[in-house]
Amino acid sequence: MSPTFKAWLKKCKGQVWHLQSKSPDSYAVWHEGSPDSAADAGVHCIRCISDKYLRSRRNAARFPVFPIVFIGNVFMSLHANEISPEEIRKLSEEFETRPLTDILRWVWDRFGTRAAVGTSFQGAGLVMIHHAVKAGIPLPVFTLDTQLLFPETYELKRRLENFFELKIEGLLPDQTPEEQAADMGPELWNKHPDTCCTMRKVIPLQRKLETLAVWITGLRRQQSDTRQKTRILEMYHFDVLRDQYILKLNPMAPWSRDAVWAYIHEHGIPYNPLHDRGFRSIGCWPCTRPSGDGENERAGRWTGFDKSECGIHTFLGESI
Ligand code: SF4
Repeated sequence: MSPTFKAWLKKCKGQVWHLQSKSPDSYAVWHEGSPDSAADAGVHCIRCISDKYLRSRRNAARFPVFPIVFIGNVFMSLHANEISPEEIRKLSEEFETRPLTDILRWVWDRFGTRAAVGTSFQGAGLVMIHHAVKAGIPLPVFTLDTQLLFPETYELKRRLENFFELKIEGLLPDQTPEEQAADMGPELWNKHPDTCCTMRKVIPLQRKLETLAVWITGLRRQQSDTRQKTRILEMYHFDVLRDQYILKLNPMAPWSRDAVWAYIHEHGIPYNPLHDRGFRSIGCWPCTRPSGDGENERAGRWTGFDKSECGIHTFLGESI
């Protein structure tokens, strides 16, 4: 963030400004009826504001002029000069032997609410949230609500919110399953699961990551062949056009399945009852079946397709 823009933001704090959509990617800004130029702030910065406050371009089109209030830290996304690849490599190695709470404390101290935990309520995510809550680290938590989750998963979300006393944000796709069926044909997951996952998981996640600097995941190396090389801290050039980066923090990477479940049972953390019925990795109901002991943990996902990832951990490409 440039010093000029920092000063501009400070000046704006607490004020009501108006934002007018000029095109899907540009906005005019003025304050209390006196048109002001956004030129000092720079178009890129205005886009960042729009990401946080407009949420979607569809909203921008529907409400072309509306007030916004600057509440302080509107800059959530990561810029390359905030952390170097060398520091990332060093931290990643260091984190291999640091307690989980220390890693979560580091991310909170450095990034605050610009970091958030993404969870699908598998074991590792629950362990992470428990460590954070126990240590008083108020990291925000979100989940991808594809609207095709098992009833047990929705019930678990409610139980976890009570247990941890926190709100878990559900990220919804643009279309309901019914709208998707009308648009793309029935049961898209049976014909084109990659497209279905892109619509219901990847795009909502992409939108969320635009507002974050750090995405904290429950990835574990032991889960599948594709996850074996997961590093604890990784950086991705998330949006090349806007030169926006994202850090991916995978503090559970070294954990084994046994260690995760021992922790869950020891601390009485609510978990998905489907785990007790042979489901070892749980996603949407149309694409998940129980898996056997001889199979890898994610073998029960997308049976019949050459697919082991929904895309949320692969769309970012190679880490830097
Ligand atoms: S897991 Fe299946 S139902 Fe869920 S988004 Fe992917 S293809 Fe669609």
